[in-house]
Amino acid sequence: MKKIIIIGAGLAGLTAGIYARQSGFETTIYESHTIPGGASTSWRKKGYYFEGGLHWLTGSSPKTQLYRLWREVGAIDDTVEIYNRDPFFSFEQDGKRACLYRNIEKLRAHLTELSPADKKEIDKLCADIRKFTKAEMPVMDLPKLKAKYPAKFLIGKLLSMIPAMARMKYYQNLSAREYAEKFQNPQIRNLLIEMIGEEYSASSAMFTIATLAAGDGGYPAGGSVAMAGRMARYFESLGGHIVYKTPVEKVIVSNGVATGVVIAGEAISADAVIVTKDALSAIDTLFDEPIHEPWADKMRRETTPVLDVFIGLGVEADLHELPESVTFPLREPIRFGNLSFGCIGINNYAGFAGYAPEGCTTLTTVLIGDSYDFWKQCKENGIYETEKQKLADAVIRAVEEKFPQTIGKIAVSDVATPLTYERYLGSYKGSWMSIMKKGQGTVQYPVKPDSIQNLYFAGQRLISPGGTPVALMSGREAVQHLCLDTDSVFQAND
Ligand SMILES: Cc1cc2nc3c(=O)[nH]c(=O)nc-3n(C[C@H](O)[C@H](O)[C@H](O)COP(=O)(O)OP(=O)(O)OC[C@H]3O[C@@H](n4cnc5c(N)ncnc54)[C@H](O)[C@@H]3O)c2cc1C
Repeated sequence: MKKIIIIGAGLAGLTAGIYARQSGFETTIYESHTIPGGASTSWRKKGYYFEGGLHWLTGSSPKTQLYRLWREVGAIDDTVEIYNRDPFFSFEQDGKRACLYRNIEKLRAHLTELSPADKKEIDKLCADIRKFTKAEMPVMDLPKLKAKYPAKFLIGKLLSMIPAMARMKYYQNLSAREYAEKFQNPQIRNLLIEMIGEEYSASSAMFTIATLAAGDGGYPAGGSVAMAGRMARYFESLGGHIVYKTPVEKVIVSNGVATGVVIAGEAISADAVIVTKDALSAIDTLFDEPIHEPWADKMRRETTPVLDVFIGLGVEADLHELPESVTFPLREPIRFGNLSFGCIGINNYAGFAGYAPEGCTTLTTVLIGDSYDFWKQCKENGIYETEKQKLADAVIRAVEEKFPQTIGKIAVSDVATPLTYERYLGSYKGSWMSIMKKGQGTVQYPVKPDSIQNLYFAGQRLISPGGTPVALMSGREAVQHLCLDTDSVFQAND
């Protein structure tokens, strides 16, 4: 039996591990953290549970092709309830709220009532959402792969995507802001901008809305940690090993072949290595010589990483009556580093049992932008903790101003910066996805480099914009390449 080493027990590493075990490889995952899940994580502080990863899972709907894969790797099973938040997102300004409802007709009626002047553009939007609901990530096998249960190529599915493909260029060539500006109403405009961020292409916004409208993008009960835990247990039940608190220092490459890894100065041999640490960081840090193939240079050159500062709040009040997700403008922008936020979005977990002590509520916000250098400088100058607290205080003030029922009741705050993510994930600047900007289509990088044999990459960075579906698909693809290279049968449970 061939011996495989996987670096990282995030969702890509766990996926690769499960398929590798099922396909008959002796598999060990080395993970630097104490728990599985990587960026898909959550944590507790003083009784408050902060969901720091999953907000929605593409492929949570049984109607999608990805759903089968999530089930194959044990992320979802019949016991896992999926919660489809609706409205998924909203923007509130001047006492009016624009809501992103999942039902297309409900969305059309709601937006038209809010802004009759935008009726024509709203109708166009809703017609396109309907087309985009048919577009999904196709699940296929590599050519020539011997698979025990080959993926079925569904020609009907492919044909149904044609109307969306025909509209894709239009949205790809607009930024989210440019598209939003076609609407007169400020709440609708801001809804479209704030939902994904103004820098993104409008096609990202369209895919997001359509995923929700298709009944997908739910939240599996228990969230990130529970899902990663199910996958890790499944991997171990198949005979796989996860070694935690064990960072891999280097991949050993001899004569152009990956032959193992170095851990704590010691060489551990393997027949193949799958790297799921962020590829953008791995190509420069995990090898004696940085990898300089054309795809790796393109990744270095063209990636715009997604970084955030995550702020979790524990509120000693029951906030059931507040929306589950609402973004609103601030009287004073929140500023840190070279970033300025005129609005913030709050996720309200009041409806989630066990996420806060009885009668209390967990709120979270994710401030997206590249503030890496700022936090690095704060650390060097010894003011990192002070600046984190200053930011938490600014968010608390904003929340109290918007929701007076929280005044004096925000008892707990927790701030994770890009340095926190970098420390836990080892990813480039602590990032966890990539931005697909105006004019950019999806970029796909190879799972298998040309210059090093028996080496495979998997993880969020391999197909922009990334996220959990890419971790899943690339983990699967890495093992399919491994099967091809070793003339093995790719196996998954039926
Ligand atoms: C705030 C936030 C919200 C998000 N919301 C969503 C969402 O709603 N939907 C969605 O699809 N995605 C979301 N994402 C993105 C998603 O969580 C990630 O893209 C995905 O989990 C990445 O998985 P991965 O396995 O590719 O990488 P990672 O999760 O980064 O896993 C890599 C693993 O490798 C380990 N590692 C790194 N270096 C080493 C080493 N040298 N030795 C050993 N181990 C190592 C790390 O500890 C980590 O566990 C969100 C992320 C964040 C942070």
